[in-house]
Amino acid sequence: MTTKKGRILTGDRPTGKMHLGHYVGSLANRIRLQSTYDCFFIVADLHTLTTKPEREHIAQLGQNVRDCVLDYLSVGIDPDQSTIFLQSGVPETYELNLIFENLVTVARLERIPSLKDMARAADLEESMPFGLLGYPVLQAADILLPRAHLVPVGKDNESHVEVTREIARRFNYLYGEVFPIPDVLVGDIPTLVGTDGQAKMSKSLGNTIFLSDSAEEVTQKVRGMYTDPNRIRADIPGRVEGNPVFIYHDAFNPNLDEVNDLKERYLLGKVGDVEVKKKLSAAINNFLEPFRERRARYEAQPGLIEDVLIAGTERARAEAHKTMDAVREAMGMYRLPVRTI
Ligand code: ATP
Ligand code: MG
Repeated sequence: MTTKKGRILTGDRPTGKMHLGHYVGSLANRIRLQSTYDCFFIVADLHTLTTKPEREHIAQLGQNVRDCVLDYLSVGIDPDQSTIFLQSGVPETYELNLIFENLVTVARLERIPSLKDMARAADLEESMPFGLLGYPVLQAADILLPRAHLVPVGKDNESHVEVTREIARRFNYLYGEVFPIPDVLVGDIPTLVGTDGQAKMSKSLGNTIFLSDSAEEVTQKVRGMYTDPNRIRADIPGRVEGNPVFIYHDAFNPNLDEVNDLKERYLLGKVGDVEVKKKLSAAINNFLEPFRERRARYEAQPGLIEDVLIAGTERARAEAHKTMDAVREAMGMYRLPVRTI
């Protein structure tokens, strides 16, 4: 552990199955860096309360948490190497969140565009909950409890991590150096467009290819993908740039000769969408195949997911405990004397 370059914290809300957007935005960097950084991956169940506080949603959390961990393991996050933990299992999160709430202004949070987008998507625009406004503050508590140096996230999350940096600076200025100022690491593809070609890939928009999709599901989704709308026949020259099928070829097809040949012929009107899509679903299925094999192996081991989460949460708590001691010490908080009877 001591030979590692620094600490990473990142994670996801357990709101359902993960997709290719999550992979390129954040998971790929986690896998690439897990042997060189001491990684903490948080399953942020408390963050789901900001948009879905109803009991029926809470009731789904157990299943969603397990699905999220299974997605992590299937893409190659190694639980022997990295710490996978449950946010609500680290109660210090609530404590640090409250302290941080006093180090940022309401006006600052109101200026974050992604929060407005989230409120709109959850139909909460006119009735923004206090907790949703505080989403990036809770995220700052997550990132700074293990005193992380690096946060691999998708582009849409960059502005949240900026709030973490400001809070860390403010804390250190007021009370002394306790926290590192973490850097953001955005994935190679900062935002992956959905299969509809209209917006970023997102569960709520139904334009996703899930990491757990079967080969048939992938083939079917790719067949229905949006391409160049002006190209009504295969002999009409098409547009490659910004065309989702080619964005996906670039992202998931390692056969550069094949991709370049398809692009050239597409531009000249010498290839049909059917061939481009057939080759794309083959490439995505090749890409997903090792995930499917790993998933099946992990699924066959009952109790494994809970074991991974319990061990990870214990480690995250131990770190959180150390951080909170340093926080209270730095702040000079009054503490009641301990009496022994
Ligand atoms: P969804 O947007 O599908 O509903 P979510 O809101 O549950 O998913 P987030 O918690 O917003 O997921 O995202 C988890 C991580 O994945 C974040 O780092 C986010 O930036 C990244 N991410 C999500 N969608 C994409 C995408 N289409 N392209 C790149 N990165 C993405
Ligand atoms: Mg999202």
